[in-house]
Amino acid sequence: MDKILVLNSGSTSVKFQLFNMEKGYHEVITKGMVDRIGLAGSKIIVKADNEHDFTMETPINNHKDAIKVVLDYLLKKHLKNTDELSAVGHRMGHGGEYFDKSVIIDEDVMEKIYDTIPLIPLHGPAFVHGLEAVTELLPNKVQVATFDSAYHQSMKKSAYLYAIPEEYYKNHRIRRYGFHGTSHNYISHITKDILGFQGKVISCHLGGGASICAIDKGKSVDTTMGYTPSAGIIMSTRSGDMDPYIPLHIMKTQNKTADEVNTMFNKQSGMFGLTNGHSDMRDIIESAENGDKDCAFAIEAYVYSLVKTIGAYIAVLGGIDALVFTAGIGENSPLIRRKVCERLSYLGLNLDEEKNNLRPAPQEITTSDSKVKVLVIPANEELMIAEETFELISELKDKEAMAV
Ligand code: AMP
Repeated sequence: MDKILVLNSGSTSVKFQLFNMEKGYHEVITKGMVDRIGLAGSKIIVKADNEHDFTMETPINNHKDAIKVVLDYLLKKHLKNTDELSAVGHRMGHGGEYFDKSVIIDEDVMEKIYDTIPLIPLHGPAFVHGLEAVTELLPNKVQVATFDSAYHQSMKKSAYLYAIPEEYYKNHRIRRYGFHGTSHNYISHITKDILGFQGKVISCHLGGGASICAIDKGKSVDTTMGYTPSAGIIMSTRSGDMDPYIPLHIMKTQNKTADEVNTMFNKQSGMFGLTNGHSDMRDIIESAENGDKDCAFAIEAYVYSLVKTIGAYIAVLGGIDALVFTAGIGENSPLIRRKVCERLSYLGLNLDEEKNNLRPAPQEITTSDSKVKVLVIPANEELMIAEETFELISELKDKEAMAV
């Protein structure tokens, strides 16, 4: 059994999960997060099980402090020493065109990771800080990087190249990369197990950030996020796709800077912009039920943006075997799932209303005669990272054994 620590480093937080892994089996030993790094009230929150949950406030100035707090907790409760840890798996934001799968960190990989930071200036540094902190605290520990963009490297050039002068791709690496790849990859694996074959799958990751992915035989064929995670369907606070001239027009006519326009399209748009300030889908649904017309309209616009994309991806795939909902809204909102599925009934897709309304929803929410299966699969990027880390260290051990 291998103990694997999975870390997801954000700009002011580090989420962690400790797994016990062996082939075909996994167990979550404990999980939690360090929050408010570098801010007043920084703390570690552990969600082991109800009995052992705890929160402890402690000064945490940077990612190294944060990971040290996590390791101290693990050493107190779950590990005799750090040798018991087989490897650390990291969620990384961007792999550029370098990485189409998870990799073991070495000098060459680190160089390439540093080279992708300019592609993701807002979040890239935090992912790297997590990695550097583990290198300092646990030198020689095997570390694995799993990239959000890697799964989409299977897209063809016709799907990833923007129709702008080619020098922007060649010299500035501007192309569609796609994100949420670890989540869509996980959906692809689980859906294969449910269907019994690798079919045509449309995966809808509907959280605060949201993206849809067209999957054929386990591979990403197209996805809605692009050069950045701002593109695609309507999101909580991001506009998604729009006429590229709009930001330029606003900058020119209203004397706004690129940063101001960026904030407007990423933090004040999407559902937030359409509803005068609601970004949480639960509030929006409740307000719509209480007669708020803006919220009711925003829900219609959201569903429209999903249906339009799903339709396009059915055309791209040449059909659909399964439509999958995952992440906060996808897993928890029967209303959004019903409204989307109603618009797709022409496919012979029959939603089972009773199953759709169950909480938590069962894995399959269509009737037995439905021509398309609709699935609800809880997002689990951490497990995907643990599995990929486990596979890589198993390969490493095999190689070392052969060399002896
Ligand atoms: P995530 O980014 O995956 O954590 O998802 C966050 C989103 O899920 C937020 O917009 C929440 O409003 C939404 N969400 C969580 N629970 C529900 C629910 N019961 N109904 C509708 N939306 C929900």
